[in-house]
Amino acid sequence: MTTLIYTHEACLNHKPGPSHPESPERLKAVLRALHTPEFDAAEWRDAPMGTREQVLMIHTEAFVEDVEDASPNQGYMPLDGGDTVMSPGSLEAVMRCVGAACAGVDAVMGKEVRNVFCATRPCGHHAEPNKAMGFCIYNQAAIAAAYAYDVHKLERVAVVDFDVHHGNGTQAAFYDRPELFYASSHQSHFYPGTGLEAETGISHNIVNVPLPRGCDSAMFREQIAAKMLPAIRAFNPEILIISAGFDAHHLDPLAGLNLQDDDFEWVTRELMKIADDCCDGRVVSILEGGYSLEGLASSTAVHVKALMDH
Ligand SMILES: [Zn+2]
Repeated sequence: MTTLIYTHEACLNHKPGPSHPESPERLKAVLRALHTPEFDAAEWRDAPMGTREQVLMIHTEAFVEDVEDASPNQGYMPLDGGDTVMSPGSLEAVMRCVGAACAGVDAVMGKEVRNVFCATRPCGHHAEPNKAMGFCIYNQAAIAAAYAYDVHKLERVAVVDFDVHHGNGTQAAFYDRPELFYASSHQSHFYPGTGLEAETGISHNIVNVPLPRGCDSAMFREQIAAKMLPAIRAFNPEILIISAGFDAHHLDPLAGLNLQDDDFEWVTRELMKIADDCCDGRVVSILEGGYSLEGLASSTAVHVKALMDH
């Protein structure tokens, strides 16, 4: 069985503005890195459109109506100050993100493929059930988790997030749901301000691993091995969804951690070991942040290569 990569050209048509760091160039850099011979064994599919029903598994109806009403025919429409902005292509882009994430769950549950990478944008983990935030409109990782629970009737679903920012949206959606587990490593204190160790969820189903500015490879691996990996294993998930952000890379212009490409390979392999032991290898990885085009391309490549090299 192989690795399946979902993407869609509509994800290039979310254009939050000429000076916005979450630019279409990010996805172009990822796709250039993955369209090389070492990824020939991966299977590619166009991301399907997500459905409103899928979005409503996490987001409130009032919020979804607000997003649909805000979708502009031309120009820009801000949802969260200047951070989160819709352009005419944004609504389809986010519905492709949702569709890819849920189809990814279907593909691993149906044993069509070993694992999935969603090369989609915008990112999603800051989007809370009732608000867009931090470049994120809908939270596709949280939606994929709820979809695995609601549709595939799994009893324990984990989202693991190594983006440099805390996924406040995923935490908010999961906080009171013991069947959904969220583990995040992130720079702290830093945007968005959440993600303290004391934020544990209703049944210790939230595990936050805050990392100080300047955190290097050795500290990252030590903290992940000590605090995150055992907690995921103890939760014993039936599927692992990865919020794969690459902005903890040392080249990233927005953040202050010091990770190298091979740290992303290491954490991917560690998560796959847990997936092999707990969930029959089922992993759906979803692109989140990463704002150095060079660092994003190289670290995404080692991440996807690790998924394939299983
Ligand atoms: Zn981020």
